[in-house]
Amino acid sequence: MEDDSKITEILDNLYKEMENKNDTYIGFPNSRLYDHGELSRFLKFPINNIGDPYQPNHGINTCVFEQEVLDFFINLFHLDRADSWGYITNGGTEGNISGLYQGREIYPEGILYFSEDSHYSLPKIAKLLKITSEIIPSLENGEIDYDMFKKRIIKNRAKPVIVNSNIGTTMKGAIDNVENIIEIIKSLNITDYYIHCDAALSGGILPFLKAAPVFDFRIPIASISVSGHKFFGAPIPCGILITRKSIRHVFKSTPSYMGSIDTTISGSRDGFSVLVLWHTINRYGWDGFKKMVDEAFELRDYTLKELQTIGRKAWANPHSTTIVLDNPGNYIVNKWQLASTPEIAHVIILPGVTKRIINNFITDLKTIKQ
Ligand SMILES: *Cc1c(COP(=O)(O)O)cnc(C)c1O
Repeated sequence: MEDDSKITEILDNLYKEMENKNDTYIGFPNSRLYDHGELSRFLKFPINNIGDPYQPNHGINTCVFEQEVLDFFINLFHLDRADSWGYITNGGTEGNISGLYQGREIYPEGILYFSEDSHYSLPKIAKLLKITSEIIPSLENGEIDYDMFKKRIIKNRAKPVIVNSNIGTTMKGAIDNVENIIEIIKSLNITDYYIHCDAALSGGILPFLKAAPVFDFRIPIASISVSGHKFFGAPIPCGILITRKSIRHVFKSTPSYMGSIDTTISGSRDGFSVLVLWHTINRYGWDGFKKMVDEAFELRDYTLKELQTIGRKAWANPHSTTIVLDNPGNYIVNKWQLASTPEIAHVIILPGVTKRIINNFITDLKTIKQ
């Protein structure tokens, strides 16, 4: 066992290391909105939202707050409250699992379609759920190739269609046009289909943009998964899964010993991040988020211009603040914590990334060029 002063020293060092990294953190999609320390007093309680958020368990929980968080997203995604269900997950991946699990339960014979630019969790989820899947090539900008999608459905015509559409791909921020996808399915007279939207990052951005592609419950989609630690800046990974209640009749609710019912993928669930999301939503609200999105797009345009001025190839999809550039080499990729492939890397402009940080990045890029 270490003595107290040694433990403090170790933690102080870790804190400094994190503070330093925070200043060159432009490659991952996490907003840094505020110091959530205000909520730290709740950390002494064994908060557990185990079970269904709409049937709070007997223990210490934040299920009522969870319902309010869900309400915010139900409104944001234009779902009728009476026909809504959802829960706070451990992250975007769990939301994808939950949404696609539901799709498979409704259509056990269905085939899962997703593009090659989908998140790496998709092949894993297909395996986990034992769903036959078809990986569709992507267009250059990262969207699904609609013609190839149509061809593959025709090939499997007798089978129900389960689609994972990307609302902001991880690398290029590309948004699959869900209205197109539905159009294609309907044009083939297929009525058995389930569309899940993986909106991990952009689910927090598109609702605040004018003339953005529609991916929500105004059109016949079934479920949406969003990450809570991306645009919404929770310091602990979490996510939001929203779906139509009316399609959940395939599930029999199993009572659990906690006095709730077992409707989620995880058992015990984090109630603290629910509190963080609730706090964030109540602090900023729709107008606050809208302002953040506008500012992020302003800084995105500035960054694109600066990158192009110094001769870098850089571009972004129209409704995304993910800037794609040619891979600038290991030094920059490591220092600025950029997600990268051998060819490309990306910078993501979100609250917490400032003009000062971008200027430092540009200076660095200029320096390594010589
Ligand atoms: C980040 C991301 C996910 C996974 O989200 P986690 O919260 O890390 O589980 C899923 N899909 C896309 C497109 C993502 O960018």
